[in-house]
Amino acid sequence: MDNTFRHFYGNQRAVRLLSAAIDRGQLSHAYLLAGPPGSGKKTFARAVAGKMFCIESCGKCQHCRLLGKDIHPDFRVFASQGFVRLELAREFKTFIQIPPSDAPQKIAVLENCHRLTTEAANSLLNILEDPPDHVVCFLTAESPEAVLPTILSRSQLVQLSPLPEAKIVQHLLDNGVEKGRAEILAACSGGLLGQALEMNEREDFFPTRQQWAETVVEILKGETDPLKAAEKWNEDVEQVLEFLTAWFRDLQLMSLTPDYVAVNRDLACQLEAASMLCPGERAFDILKHCVRARERMLANCNVRLVLDSLMLRMWKD
Ligand SMILES: [Zn+2]
Repeated sequence: MDNTFRHFYGNQRAVRLLSAAIDRGQLSHAYLLAGPPGSGKKTFARAVAGKMFCIESCGKCQHCRLLGKDIHPDFRVFASQGFVRLELAREFKTFIQIPPSDAPQKIAVLENCHRLTTEAANSLLNILEDPPDHVVCFLTAESPEAVLPTILSRSQLVQLSPLPEAKIVQHLLDNGVEKGRAEILAACSGGLLGQALEMNEREDFFPTRQQWAETVVEILKGETDPLKAAEKWNEDVEQVLEFLTAWFRDLQLMSLTPDYVAVNRDLACQLEAASMLCPGERAFDILKHCVRARERMLANCNVRLVLDSLMLRMWKD
């Protein structure tokens, strides 16, 4: 595969679509990059910019160097916490309207378009319908279903999917991560390379998981108040949900398959204790609620309420 897109082994379709369009000089004006957090949407847009600005992606020229440092004047990411409001949409439009300073075309990335306010979305309609020739827009979203139809219809959908676990392990090994650690990171990443890399950077990743596992066991025993735990976990809710989903899937599969190798194999003691307290059927029930909680979070439900109700399900029956 083209070195430019080396992080996207599992997404051949998206890579082929974009590389062919770049080679032919026929990129669309606007793409909607859809994929879960950590699937590499921003990295993908940056890779497209890299190939457009320097077809070899040589890594040495001015374009490559500026892009590598995230300071290329013709590539910009517009990001916000929570909703994407009118003000940010306006900044995005202003950037688009000014011709590129050095590169043949500009790339503008607007993140979290599943959280556009109606006002912001309306203000983008004209520019997405008929943007200046010198720009390619990348809108990102966690899922296309969550994007307003008016925005969706004005962009070409590019879906980024999770990668096979073995590919993530290989990538981590190539980056000098030790094998056992790489396997656990990959198993916990949900197929998202970005997430695996981020977890690898976090020094507290393994100790934190151990604490979470111990707390889950205490809740199952009825020794810890589930709402207090939820309060503590509120900050890391996405990672906690990822963890709990893998944890209860482990418990369910352990009860079905004797030689099953758990995702959380480094937490074997805690898993063993949990399996005594939470038989397969109950684990499956909680697992379903974990999956449902993640869906509700994607749909922008109140995070705290979602977590509270999930934690109460774990409480000793
Ligand atoms: Zn270059």
